[in-house]
Amino acid sequence: AKGQGKGRRVAYTAEMDQRTAEQSRLAADLRAALDTDQLRLLYQPIVSMPGGELYGVEALVRWTHPERGPISPGAFIPIAERTGQIVPLGAWILEQACRQAATWLDELGDAAPRTVTVNVSARQLREAGFAGEVDAVLRRTGLPPHVLTVEVTETAVFDGGAALAELRAIAALGVSIALDDFGTGHSSLGLLRSCPADILKVDKSFIDDITEGGQHAVVVAALIGICDGLRLRAVAEGVETAEQAAELHRLGYRFAQGFHFARPMPADAIAAYRPPVVSR
Ligand code: C2E
Ligand code: CA
Ligand code: CA
Ligand code: CA
Repeated sequence: AKGQGKGRRVAYTAEMDQRTAEQSRLAADLRAALDTDQLRLLYQPIVSMPGGELYGVEALVRWTHPERGPISPGAFIPIAERTGQIVPLGAWILEQACRQAATWLDELGDAAPRTVTVNVSARQLREAGFAGEVDAVLRRTGLPPHVLTVEVTETAVFDGGAALAELRAIAALGVSIALDDFGTGHSSLGLLRSCPADILKVDKSFIDDITEGGQHAVVVAALIGICDGLRLRAVAEGVETAEQAAELHRLGYRFAQGFHFARPMPADAIAAYRPPVVSR
């Protein structure tokens, strides 16, 4: 039995080593990816209900590895956060998205997405001078601040005073602030008092079971009341069916995002996109 235990421990260690090696390989490849055009942004529509109008878009990064093909951000963003590579990577994402947003304004005018949302990691927020960098990117690209939304997770803001101060400085530029994955963290409601949020994104995990009489329907209903009371804009995330959209609309939600409306798409597909109308 003793030998067996030891064997298990050895196997476990080898597996950990393998995973660590795999991650440092990815980290090294990611460094090259930024310089050699392997990364691009897709944009997922955020629609207003029931009208079926485009309200905004969320930028989502994609990596096509030269040998391994597509690698999901869920796999490489956490690595980039650990190694610090998210700082240059995030700066590139912010610049690309702002450039694209300015192009849409130029080319589409009134039909341009009213807001372009960029995900920002805790690590980026903690970097001194991040708000200054946002300001510089807005100036370089000529994008009006109110068109940009910076999206952060509650954990990122809860992370400490430095992140919150940086977020307040970004809000002071006139940029909108969205709280991502709302309700999945530890401090959700308390955070609303201290954080300069304009938009609250209700996490997919709450949306999933609302049409099946699931227990989260109560949470989703309560959150729209909180948002209305605090003058926050609520966006329901991960809406996959017409039934979910109809139920959210019935509950008073005006903004939604999810595969029912559209998957993330290349920038040049946004102009032709027409969201489905939500019927009760
Ligand atoms: P997130 O910010 O919560 O983004 C939403 C994710 O849910 C996206 O996955 C999107 O494609 C997916 N999604 C949207 N609607 C639906 C739906 O109806 N059903 C389902 N099953 N999924 C839906 P994606 O693009 O794979 O991104 C995963 C996560 O990676 C993001 O979660 C975000 O945390 C991170 N990420 C992606 N792009 C960036 C980026 O540019 N910067 C940073 N810092 N993180 C990013
Ligand atoms: Ca997000
Ligand atoms: Ca989210
Ligand atoms: Ca998420």
